Amino acid sequence: AIPLVTAISTSLAAKNGLLIRNRTAFERSRNVTMVIFDKTGTLTAGDFGVKTYKSFLEDFTDEDVLKLTAAVEHRSEHPIATGIMKKVKEKELDFPEAKDYENITGEGVKASVDGRQIMIVSPGYLKNHELEVPSEIKEEGVETLVFLLVDDSVAGYLKLADKVRDSSQKAVSALQKEGIKVIMATGDNEAAAKAVSDELGLDGYHAEVLPEDKQSIVQSAQNEGEVVVMTGDGVNDAPALAQADIGVAIGSGTDVAAETADIVLVNSDPTDLSSLIVFGKATYQKMV
Ligand code: ADP
Ligand code: MG
Repeated sequence: AIPLVTAISTSLAAKNGLLIRNRTAFERSRNVTMVIFDKTGTLTAGDFGVKTYKSFLEDFTDEDVLKLTAAVEHRSEHPIATGIMKKVKEKELDFPEAKDYENITGEGVKASVDGRQIMIVSPGYLKNHELEVPSEIKEEGVETLVFLLVDDSVAGYLKLADKVRDSSQKAVSALQKEGIKVIMATGDNEAAAKAVSDELGLDGYHAEVLPEDKQSIVQSAQNEGEVVVMTGDGVNDAPALAQADIGVAIGSGTDVAAETADIVLVNSDPTDLSSLIVFGKATYQKMV
């Protein structure tokens, strides 16, 4: 009987936008008690638009902030970088050359421009390095805030906005109806996290988490007896995807996430995951 069930689920999986990379993990879907979602690019589309950009320094215009940021971000694959480069293209701006590019996973990017160290980082990075967040900045709604640092001092900021995927609400409700807890873990700021959590009616969220924190969030849930699905798109999600009972990557995400995951959502649709779990539970109940 097992091969038949397996055959059925394989064809169903393919038809339903699921690429199964690890069958053993896939079969655990009926036992799931908790789903943890990454935010950016997973519950949200990861399609950022730049809303504002501002300089804090006298000798820098707002446009200089955008140009310096672009010099570094054009090397990054992060959805924030894509959003920034879209703006730069739209404004037909030139930007300087950057050297020694580095990705600071879950916190930002870094390079040197004209002998100065340029970083674009999260509010969390400023807190962790005891750099002051200028008080005039308020985090609002789904806005994501990043800061430009020049030689370790805060030189400006950019505000970007993303949208919750239409399919996220359906997926969250379907999972919650099965009694499954739905949690979010994001590297983004508290206000942006809370806005998405409230909009979707999640059972909880963690904001400003680093990649290793995402992994420990999965692990502590497992220690409390939860069978955990982790869903994410980024390099920063890979340790948590590996830790989870089932790691699920969003198809539009990075190769690293897809290679670490047990299942890939080929159409980047969170309802393909909720359908799998609902189906898994129903099938199991019929079998016993
Ligand atoms: P999430 O967990 O929601 O997918 P990430 O862990 O990818 O978010 O990113 C967390 C935060 O790190 C972002 O909200 C941003 O502040 C910062 N960050 C990451 N990559 C970049 C980048 N390329 N440019 C600027 N900031 C970045
Ligand atoms: Mg992400």
